[in-house]
Amino acid sequence: MILLLTFFLIIFGSTQEVIFVVIIISLVFFILSFVFFNLEITDKLDFLNNQIKEITETDKFTIENNFEEKITGLNKVLAELTAKEKYFKTNREIFELYNNLILTLKRIINELNTAKIFKINRNEFLGNVTHELRTPIFTIQLSLETLLDGAIKDDSVNMDFLKRALSQTSRLRELVDDLINISRLETDMKISKRYFEILFFVNNIVNELSELSKNKKVKLTVESEVSEKTRAFGDEERLKQVIINLVDNAIKYTNEDGEIKIGLRKTDKDVIISISDNGVGIPKDDLPRIFERFYRVDKTRSRDMGGSGLGLSIVKHILELHKSTIKVESEEGKGTKFEFNLPS
Ligand code: ADP
Repeated sequence: MILLLTFFLIIFGSTQEVIFVVIIISLVFFILSFVFFNLEITDKLDFLNNQIKEITETDKFTIENNFEEKITGLNKVLAELTAKEKYFKTNREIFELYNNLILTLKRIINELNTAKIFKINRNEFLGNVTHELRTPIFTIQLSLETLLDGAIKDDSVNMDFLKRALSQTSRLRELVDDLINISRLETDMKISKRYFEILFFVNNIVNELSELSKNKKVKLTVESEVSEKTRAFGDEERLKQVIINLVDNAIKYTNEDGEIKIGLRKTDKDVIISISDNGVGIPKDDLPRIFERFYRVDKTRSRDMGGSGLGLSIVKHILELHKSTIKVESEEGKGTKFEFNLPS
């Protein structure tokens, strides 16, 4: 550049002094822009580049799935970057690059946090499943061993051991069915919704469950404020499971001669379905947790009745797929009421 400039100045006949001054000014300008370029651009880009390297190293040197270590490493990089905000603010383009890097980093940390929670939940779920499976399997094994050790010839006990083994196999089946249901709901989120007549639908379910309620000597009735023509919108098969789970619980947790009512009423846009009983009720402190997987208020009582502890979490899941929520009101010793709505 300077040589070119000198060449032009000589051609146009400039004096030596002018040429000298122009060369000095150009040199100063060149040195200043070199320093500026280094400070403003190269140093900042170098810094960002080093941080990106640190991010990739964090991923390389941590054990796979060790989310804690990765999150700590990335948080350290994030803190270093955010502390340098003022330094990057002087150049618009580089500041934009810096902000994008911070955004991406925050997103990665968020994703890792979610993955960490999933991992904890999965481990907890597996632990619960193993625990639930162990008891019935152990009882079946013990009953069969006792029978084989000679009890089979003892008429006073052999039937008891066989019945105990049989009842535990039913419990196992129920648990496995509920697990399959949960896993299907989680992997295959598809539901096929259509309009159906809600009163007819509920009456059919009540007929199916009448044997169960008769055995327990509880009265199961439908209290409908809607006409036969009233329709609800949803996946009939899955909603049937919701009502069966809720009525089944109501039967389980209501004493003999109790009463269970399925209520139907209508609002402007929805049908409200309620299942109420005058059974044992649920303590206030337990109410927020009853929809969690494997949560039981009275552990021994529920297991003895064959409960898997998954019924209400399946109910909640299915209603979420219908964008509906389930409400519960309960008073110990007085009874419980579950309620949800469906578009009509
Ligand atoms: P379970 O298989 O144990 O019944 P659920 O998920 O269906 O599991 O219910 C969770 C817990 O909520 C039950 O263990 C029980 O303590 C309580 N519960 C559910 N429905 C009722 C009800 N209608 N009356 C009293 N307690 C209930």
